Amino acid sequence: MHKTVKFGGSSLADAKQFRKVAAILAADESRRYVVVSAPGKRWDGDVKITDLLYTCYADAAKGEDFSGPFAQIRERYEEICRELGLNLDLDGALREIESELRARPDRDYAASRGEYLNALVMAAFLDIPMVDAAGRILFDENGNFLPEASYRALYAKLKETPRAVIPGFYGSFRDGRIHTFSRGGSDVTGAIVARATNSALYENWTDVSGLLSCDPHIVENPAPIRGISYTELRELSYMGASVLHESAIFPVKSAGIPINIRNTNAPDDPGTMIQTGAGLKYDRPVTGIAGRKGFSTILVEMDQMNETVGYARDVLQVIAKYGILMEHMPSGIDTLSVVVPTAQLDPHRNEILVELKNTTHADAIYVSDRLALIAVVGRGMVRQKGTAARVFRALSEAKINVNMIDQGSGEMNIIVGVESADFEEAMRALYREFFPA
Ligand code: ASP
Repeated sequence: MHKTVKFGGSSLADAKQFRKVAAILAADESRRYVVVSAPGKRWDGDVKITDLLYTCYADAAKGEDFSGPFAQIRERYEEICRELGLNLDLDGALREIESELRARPDRDYAASRGEYLNALVMAAFLDIPMVDAAGRILFDENGNFLPEASYRALYAKLKETPRAVIPGFYGSFRDGRIHTFSRGGSDVTGAIVARATNSALYENWTDVSGLLSCDPHIVENPAPIRGISYTELRELSYMGASVLHESAIFPVKSAGIPINIRNTNAPDDPGTMIQTGAGLKYDRPVTGIAGRKGFSTILVEMDQMNETVGYARDVLQVIAKYGILMEHMPSGIDTLSVVVPTAQLDPHRNEILVELKNTTHADAIYVSDRLALIAVVGRGMVRQKGTAARVFRALSEAKINVNMIDQGSGEMNIIVGVESADFEEAMRALYREFFPA
């Protein structure tokens, strides 16, 4: 039984944080595979190594001098090594990166070097091998992650390496060129390593003690979430709750490996356990509440719409043609509305309305903006009667008008649309209802 553990940038921002990581590893011998991010911010306003590397690349690509930001990078790593008392010479690696950037500036290569160097430092500090992700986490020529080939390549190496440090965030194409995931992608590497090595648990160490049941900028001291299913997490993350890269769920979910979000600065906190719903105990109907502003509703009206075959398809085709995401589609007998992100609608608003009118022969089309969506999410809802009633009572007692209602067919979430101006108050009213003090 072993675990894969991933440490984020704030957990590795300086030598003090490295020591906390070593203590966490020493406390549990089953923490065998260690995935590292690049050093993050040490304080508000500090710059992440990855951002400095992107700056170096941008300058290098323009043929400009990047020695300023590069010197900052060098200094960060050298300071960490010095303060840890490490006898590690990073000079060769740093020189090679600098000359490679000068000769062949490549954005992903540049960005990946933060994790690469940090893995060298961590491996030296822990005195265990560093196993590179290049050549093992593989992508096809379009940048799609190749799961089976990657799991095989990682496993082949790691099965003979009982403990190792693996750099997060990147892998390579078949021809060896470096390719990164999107920002925050070390979470994905952690999930891939957990899956490839068939870990019993994937611990993701960050700077918060797990997920909260509501946005702490809106609700004071929201209750922590101890257990959540992968599906609930997807729903909440989609609506704005963020703690994990969204692609980090897929590799472990299919293998049933739970993810435990933990706090490097409070290692005794249990954090949040993310796993299949079946393995979780049921304690309350609602697990969390999340929401976002910035939606618009396009309402299409036509007499006898209900008798027109393919009407919704025609409406959606126009929306899709402009590459706009359809979030929800509440409908009546002769009306149909489509909820879309306002920012996606705005650039083509007029063309879309004209085209909708022409293709659907609607009697009227209205657009209303300033819609906020709130998702009340809970695997416990299926078993409990009256959750919807509680949602609407709480909102009506707070004198908030509900513009839209949608219940996912999995009976795991209720989504309500409210005026943007009512958003915060609606979130608070719902929180009070489901998480009474
Ligand atoms: N260092 C990368 C970033 O800042 C990847 C990561 O930390 O997960 O996005």
